Amino acid sequence: LNRRLAEFGTTIFAEMSALALSTGAINLGQGFPDTDGPEEVREAAVRALRDGLGNQYPPGPGIPELRTAVAAHQQRRYGLSYDPDGEVLVTAGATEAIAASLLALVEPGDEVIAFEPYYDSYAACIAMAGGTRVPVTLRPHEDRFRLDLDELRDAVTDRTRLLLINTPHNPTGTVLTRAELAAIAELAVERDLLVVTDEVYEHLVFDDAEHVPLATFPGMRERTVTISSSGKTFSFTGWKVGWVTGTQELVTAVRTAKQYLTYVSAGPFQYAVAEALRLPDSYFDGFRADLRRKRDLLGDGLRAAGFEVYQPQGTYFITTDITPFGEKDAHRFCRALPERCGVVAIPNSVFYDDPAAGRSQVRFAFCKRDDVLHEAAVRLRRLA
Ligand code: PMP
Ligand code: GLN
Repeated sequence: LNRRLAEFGTTIFAEMSALALSTGAINLGQGFPDTDGPEEVREAAVRALRDGLGNQYPPGPGIPELRTAVAAHQQRRYGLSYDPDGEVLVTAGATEAIAASLLALVEPGDEVIAFEPYYDSYAACIAMAGGTRVPVTLRPHEDRFRLDLDELRDAVTDRTRLLLINTPHNPTGTVLTRAELAAIAELAVERDLLVVTDEVYEHLVFDDAEHVPLATFPGMRERTVTISSSGKTFSFTGWKVGWVTGTQELVTAVRTAKQYLTYVSAGPFQYAVAEALRLPDSYFDGFRADLRRKRDLLGDGLRAAGFEVYQPQGTYFITTDITPFGEKDAHRFCRALPERCGVVAIPNSVFYDDPAAGRSQVRFAFCKRDDVLHEAAVRLRRLA
């Protein structure tokens, strides 16, 4: 393993899902739903396979039907106009979109600012691109994790190339407010920074929170690469169909890297995801209402079991604090959790440069059937 990757072992998601399998525990670790997405979308994938659509290499940028559907979605939901020919790129999940964006846009030695705790692929991809990650830490304030805008401003140097933003934010569940996003946008314009924004949880927002894409702010469309994925919105994490929108110049850059990572992404699933993106608003509203109920179900269970809960406004994760249990090491706590009560969770400490910073935080996923969440709540009470 080369020096750039030396510090990256097995991802926490693989470690914890393996632990769930070997112990038979309820897996609230890795974020994937235990109910597949809409039947009609699955049928569309079967039809594509049968009809020979996409069984051979699809076009490099993605099939036109999906690029058109992505552009129409951005227009319909956010009033953002992208040309399906040249300003939309289909990727192998958001994961490839993140990797290709960073490989395409970062020069060795460039600084990339990213929130901490961070989704784990950010650190690895910045490292593969030869960049230096500069963390800006989201800190709990009252019951939500917040961004300190002064800290963000202070983190920008002459070497800063790019802001890597994630909202709604994994693992904290924070949704950046319009005011926070406006300030980020102003900073990006003032310091002439590129922005890559990971908005895979764009449809998973609750209560009064609203997802506003960074690209909608003044001066941002021309400097922003926006990333999303069908994995979260449509509950098909195994299909690995994601996408990028941005100016032709930025999307061409990302595509240049993508060509040599995967060349193209899974053909038949692209036809199905194009159909999914055309689902009526009632699908998105119903999905969100369902998840909100699940959030409250698991949140209540965690509170009853003694966890301190940071109420998420978005994503399908709840970050908790384990200090009430007298625990000081989230990773050790999570390794022991299956044996103690038959549940698997993720230690947020692995999402910090200094694991000590997140040592009392543990993340639980609530994208599970209600009966599974009920059972998890019963089991977690054994911790008391
Ligand atoms: N970004 C974030 C913040 C995520 O949580 C995930 C899913 N774990 C991804 C990207 C990757 O998405 P995909 O499965 O589409 O590659
Ligand atoms: N995004 C999911 C999570 O945060 C899973 C990612 C993965 O397995 N790489 O849990």
